[in-house]
Amino acid sequence: MFTIGLTGGIGSGKSTVAGVLNDLGAKLVDADRVGWEVYRTGTGGYRSVVDEFGEEVVGPDGEIDRKRLGSIVFGDPARMEALTGIVWPLIAGAVADRIGEEAARGTLILVVEAAVLFEAGWENLFDEIWVVTAREEMAVERLISRDGVTAESVLARVAAQIPDEERVRRADAVIDNGGDLTGLRRSVESVWRERTTGKA
Ligand code: ATP
Repeated sequence: MFTIGLTGGIGSGKSTVAGVLNDLGAKLVDADRVGWEVYRTGTGGYRSVVDEFGEEVVGPDGEIDRKRLGSIVFGDPARMEALTGIVWPLIAGAVADRIGEEAARGTLILVVEAAVLFEAGWENLFDEIWVVTAREEMAVERLISRDGVTAESVLARVAAQIPDEERVRRADAVIDNGGDLTGLRRSVESVWRERTTGKA
């Protein structure tokens, strides 16, 4: 099995690219979704997060409320580090399990979408890392229209992430999302042909 870690800045178009890769025949895993699972009620992750942040992060449904947790850690580097120190290793373990399951199932090409791939140090989980890039103004504009959020809140998140240049430097392939969706599809198809021919 050939495994690709797909990353990029917020609003760069990761999910859109993942959708195209799925159309081309890749199986998808979303590390963000895996991330919710690692602290569901009853897990060790749940216990560790509640021990660290207190019962106030538990919502009325008994699950950890991601919004409440986010509002505690965002803008507080020490608390953010406490959270990522708990959840990133758990997510890496769960992603590695998923990779093992897909390999056993006979999947040929697996794409794992992971926004924090570099920040979390997950490079070694994958055969290759593909990075989606988009100019910051463009990404911000797309997020404002997708999520109805303010420019300030998006810019704060942009400021907290590693710069695109660093991602590009560490990538095996770069997919530029600076144009329209047709152009994006074409770029994805071209990288797919270049990097996966003979692998599926
Ligand atoms: P997040 O960081 O929130 O996970 P993402 O990197 O996965 O975001 P997408 O959700 O794929 O980004 O794209 C953000 C928004 O921009 C979506 O509404 C998507 O439909 C739109 N979009 C992505 N690429 C393009 C494009 N080339 N032209 C127009 N709209 C686009």
